[in-house]
Amino acid sequence: MTIYNFSAGPAVLPEPVLKKAQEELLDYQGSGMSVMELSHRSSLFEEIIANAEKLLRKLMNIPENYHVLFLQGGASLQFSAVPLNLAQNKKALYINTGSWAEKAIAAAKDIHTVDTQVIASSEDKNFAYIPQITKDLLDKDAAYLHITTNETIGGISYQKIPDTGDIPLVADMSSNILTNEYKVSDFGVIYAGAQKNMGPAGLTVVIIRDDLLNEQPLFAPMLDYRLQADKHSMYNTPPTFSIYMAKLVFEWLQDLGGIPQILKYNQQKAGLLYDAIDRSALFQSPVNKNDRSLTNIPFLTNSDTLNQKFIQLAQEQGFENLKGHRSVGGMRASLYNAFPLEGVQALVDFMEKFEKAHGG
Ligand code: PLP
Repeated sequence: MTIYNFSAGPAVLPEPVLKKAQEELLDYQGSGMSVMELSHRSSLFEEIIANAEKLLRKLMNIPENYHVLFLQGGASLQFSAVPLNLAQNKKALYINTGSWAEKAIAAAKDIHTVDTQVIASSEDKNFAYIPQITKDLLDKDAAYLHITTNETIGGISYQKIPDTGDIPLVADMSSNILTNEYKVSDFGVIYAGAQKNMGPAGLTVVIIRDDLLNEQPLFAPMLDYRLQADKHSMYNTPPTFSIYMAKLVFEWLQDLGGIPQILKYNQQKAGLLYDAIDRSALFQSPVNKNDRSLTNIPFLTNSDTLNQKFIQLAQEQGFENLKGHRSVGGMRASLYNAFPLEGVQALVDFMEKFEKAHGG
């Protein structure tokens, strides 16, 4: 039976990448050692991390005046690192679009030297839409405005990046980095956990504009962006194997034609599923049509019992991890870069069969 893994993260990785890693697992390029066994100071590993950075810069067109950091601690640690580095004794603005934005806001609020303000929210409609940001909401003295480009749990996404003028825009791009075309220069900081579109868990990528690096050393060196940039992400032992895997994923994406090509593929996949939901009399999408995510697609019936039945029968057919997040219920299909179109077609066929049998 073919298994299709709809997990929201850690998520499916490209098969050619896994095969290449398997081939090289015991003996990396004739060294007689696994990548996992290489010293992070060795020339072999230095080449891996340098190439990973070079490829990411190329894929995302990252300008020269941005640093690329390969860190640990997940996107969750960045929820604290961003305000600590950028907004000490300043205002930090946030847009609340759902579960992940809320976590970022809560972490900033815990830092008492930061004045955290939520300037817009879609909580009134259960986070079914992206709020409009108008210029009058932006305080010119703010250190930054933080957005979550894609809400992994709620399934909404910015179709247009807000224009914040001189206020640096900080983006948690954990669930849609490399899936969509973004202009890096629209942002001051981009951060993302690797485990959805870049590789295994354990690696966190931070892309930060040079002028936003902290002037003063931070009390915690591991959280200090300037120190991490000065040390080229080697202040301590970096997550070497995850960086190696990310390098392989970047090569895979580059060979496919880069982000413009994968975006078309992602649109095709998401379009197929949204069309099926829209055609159906049984399944619905809980979010505003104009703000739908390309990568995380929640859907549900109007009965919890039917939702559960669907998830159970789907799993028996090899559709793994379709259960929606516990905070929202229903179903969710995560269609990251490595998820195949055939898997979406198979799901749509299964949904149609289920509707015939249970649609009433
Ligand atoms: N932000 C978003 C949008 C996410 O989807 C996630 C994880 O799913 C996180 C942050 C947290 O990431 P991590 O588990 O790497 O801390």
